[in-house]
Amino acid sequence: MPLRAILDDKEIISINFTKEEWISLKNKIKKGSSSLILPCCKQKGFLRTSSKGLNHFVHSKNDLNCDWKPETPQHLKSKVEIIKACNKNGWQAIPEFSQNDWRADVLAIKSNSRIAFEVQWSKQKEEDTKFRQEKYRRDNVRGCWFFRTIPKELKSFNEKPLANKDLPLFKIHEDENEEIIVIFGDIKKSLYEFVDDLLSKKIKFCKQYRLLPEQNIEITFYEKTCWKCGKEQHSYIINKEFKTCCKNDYNYYRENEIYYHPKIIEFIEEILQSNEGKDIKFGGWFQCYYCNAEFGAHYLIGEKMDAKYQDNNITFKKNIEIGEIIIDNSNHWCYSENKDFCE
Ligand SMILES: [Zn+2]
Ligand SMILES: [Zn+2]
Ligand SMILES: [Zn+2]
Repeated sequence: MPLRAILDDKEIISINFTKEEWISLKNKIKKGSSSLILPCCKQKGFLRTSSKGLNHFVHSKNDLNCDWKPETPQHLKSKVEIIKACNKNGWQAIPEFSQNDWRADVLAIKSNSRIAFEVQWSKQKEEDTKFRQEKYRRDNVRGCWFFRTIPKELKSFNEKPLANKDLPLFKIHEDENEEIIVIFGDIKKSLYEFVDDLLSKKIKFCKQYRLLPEQNIEITFYEKTCWKCGKEQHSYIINKEFKTCCKNDYNYYRENEIYYHPKIIEFIEEILQSNEGKDIKFGGWFQCYYCNAEFGAHYLIGEKMDAKYQDNNITFKKNIEIGEIIIDNSNHWCYSENKDFCE
């Protein structure tokens, strides 16, 4: 459903009209004092208002000479939200802009920069997406994609779209309030807010994660029994959900680095000497508190995995300065309100 038309040789965009202007335009066209042409096929266009109250144009039912495909109300709404966010940031936004062999849902223009925003409410294959992206690249246009269903080749094992600087691609869906929502990383935003953030440069592609220098560290002591003397004692796990600078959760994998971090060891000692921790019997990772029997490293792995779900766990929390930790090879779209990005 086009948002753009030619009214008496002048280009117009439906959503820029007030209710009154829209009604008067409708009358003019009815009377024949103005003519409305659709740019896609140069055929006559008509005015419509969707059930959600969005003004747009339509073809006549008898027009067969146009490749315009039917659009969902969500697709229409997405285009409108993108246009509004572009305008807010001083970008000119032209819906259904076509050039050479492509047509963008919304083309945003500011001085020499051009961004094509594409909304895929219906499915589109990876190869078609890449093919279309290549056309944009060739014509010096940055293509930015919003997919309701991400092609399987373009998403990771956890169903999230792969972050790729050359193919910016984000997942969208419609929430229960009929709002179009963008999900990227662990963050959710309305499409309007997302495009607003993108154009005001609060979203940036980064190749690494930077962990926040201060982390809320959670240490849980769990009970275990010595295989040799049979006595009850404790060991601990560190909750490994760390926060990145862009507020994503990061499941820390370089375990040793954090388990043997001097500040963490300091915290453990602090706990063991405290009133709340004085009954904890911790003899070290690999030996019994009572009889010095050795605990095999491979047992610990399984033990730590089950530990979270035990009954008598005691958890301690503290904000700890762990210093700057960089995680390489972590392509992602980094979001920062104050532009303090991971990279
Ligand atoms: Zn047409
Ligand atoms: Zn023992
Ligand atoms: Zn980041």
